Amino acid sequence: MTSGLMGSCQCNTRGCTPLQWIQIFLLKKIMQTDDLSMLFHLPLSPQAFQELVTMQLQLQMVPYDSNISDTWSFSWGNSQYTSRRFYQLAFKHLILPNTFKWVWKSKCTPRLKFFAWLILMDRLNTKDMLQRRNFHVQPNSHCVMCNAGVVEDLRHLFFDCPFAAACWQKLGILWGSSNDIHTLLQ
Ligand SMILES: [Zn+2]
Repeated sequence: MTSGLMGSCQCNTRGCTPLQWIQIFLLKKIMQTDDLSMLFHLPLSPQAFQELVTMQLQLQMVPYDSNISDTWSFSWGNSQYTSRRFYQLAFKHLILPNTFKWVWKSKCTPRLKFFAWLILMDRLNTKDMLQRRNFHVQPNSHCVMCNAGVVEDLRHLFFDCPFAAACWQKLGILWGSSNDIHTLLQ
């Protein structure tokens, strides 16, 4: 039986931890009860009851033998936990811009990768970010790299500031005009 992170369970309560026993007990009751409404002290809403009926129908399709000892496994197919596997399971549906892959797979030092990640996530402590976090920025929030009197935000500091533009020009890099950092870097 698949329940969240944990995988198969064939039930007989011997050898289970208290938490597993509680889960098994509840699942077993749900699977074997004829009147689902008797499982709860409070009356269920129509929607909650419908969800319970749906869950019971799904549970009935799972092979179940109460005489077989329990075996537990994670959804990835064995009993060994690794944070990498959990991360892949939890975030497997996440579709990220390629810019994140470029950053993490680059040969830069971890410090630079983290710095780039802060830029991509718009979490760098530029002056406008500090103001957004209610810091009292002195004497103002203007960019210190130029005298244009422009607010120091991510876009200005790394792309629009004349100083930044001159640096990129020296390197022969021409950025686009998109306001989205991921589109801009592609
Ligand atoms: Zn500037």
